[in-house]
Amino acid sequence: ASQLASKKSEAVRVIVRIRPLSKTEIADGREICARVDTTRMEIALHNPKAAPGEPPKLFTFDDTYGPDTLQKDIYDRSAAPIVDSVIDGYNGTIFAYGQTGAGKTHTMEGVPDVPELRGLMPNAFKHIFERIDTTGGTERQYLVRASYMEIYNEDVRDLLGKDVTTRLELKESVDSGVYVKDLTSVVVKSAAEVDAVLQAGKRNRVTGATAMNAQSSRSHAIFTVTVENQGKGLDGKEHICVGKLNMVDLAGSERQAKTGATGIRLKEATKINLSLSALGNVIAALIDPKSSHIPYRDSKLTRLLQDSLGGNTKTVMIANCGPAGYNYDETLSTLRYADRAKRI
Ligand code: ADP
Ligand code: MG
Repeated sequence: ASQLASKKSEAVRVIVRIRPLSKTEIADGREICARVDTTRMEIALHNPKAAPGEPPKLFTFDDTYGPDTLQKDIYDRSAAPIVDSVIDGYNGTIFAYGQTGAGKTHTMEGVPDVPELRGLMPNAFKHIFERIDTTGGTERQYLVRASYMEIYNEDVRDLLGKDVTTRLELKESVDSGVYVKDLTSVVVKSAAEVDAVLQAGKRNRVTGATAMNAQSSRSHAIFTVTVENQGKGLDGKEHICVGKLNMVDLAGSERQAKTGATGIRLKEATKINLSLSALGNVIAALIDPKSSHIPYRDSKLTRLLQDSLGGNTKTVMIANCGPAGYNYDETLSTLRYADRAKRI
């Protein structure tokens, strides 16, 4: 059983990143409640309201990243192995989880025009084309495509299409499994082209959110790069293999009850909680060697990513946290979510 367990957990990794205090937090004199011990891969969380002498809560993960983490380090350790296997024809998924302001978008996208602050996504684009350019040429032919969608209130929307407010349907076929009907797919020839596609999609996301009176922190954004490669196999025949890399900036995980949400905001909150907990359940089931049923069908997000979660795919869940005491409740809830997705 332990062999099976290690086999399973290799494919799904749960890691935590704590961002630095922001300038405002420093100016406001906020104290730090979450500390990282990167050698033990442990997070110590101090409750600011704890009685004197009360020990911090300790959590251990597959990997941990503190406030001084370089973007390139987290890429090399957490994302690069997934990207390599995507180029070899397997699927992979990278999730950023956490409350709004915890650093999800910084981790995924970073600052586009500052090279050392570029996030996982632009690093992945660069990695893909660097590998294709060296292994491509005469032996192998590569075709790279990008798509970008968001899930808002359990509706799927195309961020690269003509009208972002149109709802797209999820379909299922024997050949292609679950797919989004009419989703735009753009052929890209360089890392710079994928960067441009991402930026165009982001502009649509803002426009769409305004048109629908929504906030982008309430939707899940899924950017997918598909790498198709064709070449002669060991049998001397031509083979095509396809790998898909999904990069998912999840909706903010903050509890909505605190903000006294009603009406449309409450409906949003319910759907966000539904898909985030469905995702947590799927990841927990994938890691649990005893589980025989993976509940993919419980949300659009998990249905859509079904072929990229489990089996011979690789997944990393990056739980992002703020370090300050006023974020204690949300940080605790993020660490518990990540811990549950990891343990069992
Ligand atoms: P989220 O996407 O989870 O809402 P953001 O990524 O937008 O959060 O981060 C909130 C703010 O904190 C942004 O101004 C971002 O630049 C900054 N930030 C987040 N993580 C880091 C980090 N690791 N280093 C420096 N600044 C960060
Ligand atoms: Mg964000």
